[in-house]
Amino acid sequence: MSTFPPDLFRGRRFAVLGLGKNGLPAAHALAAMGAEVVAWDDNEKARAASTPSFPSAPPSWPGAKGLGATGQGDGPAKPGHGGGEDSITLRDPTADPGFRFDALVLSPGIPHRLPNPHPAAVRAREAGVPILSDTELLYRAVRGAGSKARFAGITGTNGKSTTTALLAHILVEAGVTAAAGANLGPAALSLPLLPQDAVYVLEMSSYMLERIDTLRFDAAAMLNLSADHLDRHGDMAGYASAKRAIFARQTAGDLAVIGVDDAGSQAMADWLDTRPARVARVSGQDRPLAQGPALPGAHNAQNAAAATVMARFFGVSDDAIAAGLRSFPGLPHRQQRIVTVDGITFVNDSKATNADAAERALVCYDRLIWIAGGMAKEGGIEPLVPLFPRIARAILIGRDAPQFAATLTREGVPFDMVGTLDAAVPAAFAAAKDADAPIVLLSPACASWDQFTGYDQRGDRFAEIARSLAGGA
Ligand code: ADP
Repeated sequence: MSTFPPDLFRGRRFAVLGLGKNGLPAAHALAAMGAEVVAWDDNEKARAASTPSFPSAPPSWPGAKGLGATGQGDGPAKPGHGGGEDSITLRDPTADPGFRFDALVLSPGIPHRLPNPHPAAVRAREAGVPILSDTELLYRAVRGAGSKARFAGITGTNGKSTTTALLAHILVEAGVTAAAGANLGPAALSLPLLPQDAVYVLEMSSYMLERIDTLRFDAAAMLNLSADHLDRHGDMAGYASAKRAIFARQTAGDLAVIGVDDAGSQAMADWLDTRPARVARVSGQDRPLAQGPALPGAHNAQNAAAATVMARFFGVSDDAIAAGLRSFPGLPHRQQRIVTVDGITFVNDSKATNADAAERALVCYDRLIWIAGGMAKEGGIEPLVPLFPRIARAILIGRDAPQFAATLTREGVPFDMVGTLDAAVPAAFAAAKDADAPIVLLSPACASWDQFTGYDQRGDRFAEIARSLAGGA
């Protein structure tokens, strides 16, 4: 592994819009490869967080107000300017005369079509400037640096992060050099330059897939499709066509892995049969080579199947794959076993922000105490009613607890409304002892924004309280 040549993108100009977890590393990486970078975020806080590492535009420019400007301002890259932080300017690229950029690197969260295209995206289109994701630029940088490292891409509505982390784990344990990242982090452009025979394993969101242009995956997987992000993609057809781009440009030597457990994926499998790449179908019904303790449930059987065929494609033996499935530690917040106290196991599935995801966890346990609630999605917990017999008692938190309480009351499931997670964990512990239930599961079927900064903070807090119960026991 090494770093990219400092003159790889010399003479190129990139606009990087959105200085979050993808954009900020992208701006720095492109500058370190010799490009001139104009970086911007409409959010003042994000801009402030990106300085002082960026010099900003001259104070005469309106968007630069209050930024303590010291930078180099407008104009092309200085000849011989060989990368480094000072080739980044903090300035709104929409104000750039002529919008003369080699590409606009747009953060995944910023729309370029629907529901409303960002003004910079509109200008890029008018000026004929391609809108690209950082994953595309990683690919160009790797090839530009002369490396033939291979690329694996994984997408789908659910299971992307798990399958990405699992494949990378199997490869590394088997002695294959691999780097995993993109949507699950680290950002694509923070990954190192890998040599030939090494593998990049990239988790690809539909937003990233809309913005690739030459990136070709040696092995690509599309796990499943259910309604998601339709505001950005227009409808299911638009969403499916974004996901399908993971197979773009694949040729006869490549591998296309496709889920077949839903209608949209099946249609894509039929389409793949007409294409040159070898097609491998994967399902939740597949029997894994080995049962990994961190991979419970049929949904994880599908993830394991996808990682298995991809690892085989990269030359890993079945024995080594089985060992990797067994030793995979799992990802935090996805049915993560935190601690067992007095025979009661606390499971953190905070990532389950909708009923669909909570269902995947509930089916894994015969008798449990369920902590749920927060900001509910459309339909609430109605789809979970068939699983209610497994729930010895529900402990409800957050804004939409009353809505969930109504469903539980109607179905005769005992519950307590306790407001906060801090109250819920000890209440669930007591209820588990009372009801002789071996599992306390946090799988909220809700977004967390009413009480937390995100599902990860919610899961971390759950784990912290559960561990403190272990200290007291
Ligand atoms: P993503 O990165 O696509 O959001 P994760 O791997 O983080 O997916 O898993 C998130 C949740 O999605 C899991 O907790 C589980 O409830 C559900 N899930 C995981 N894998 C699958 C799958 N193959 N099919 C359906 N649902 C899944």
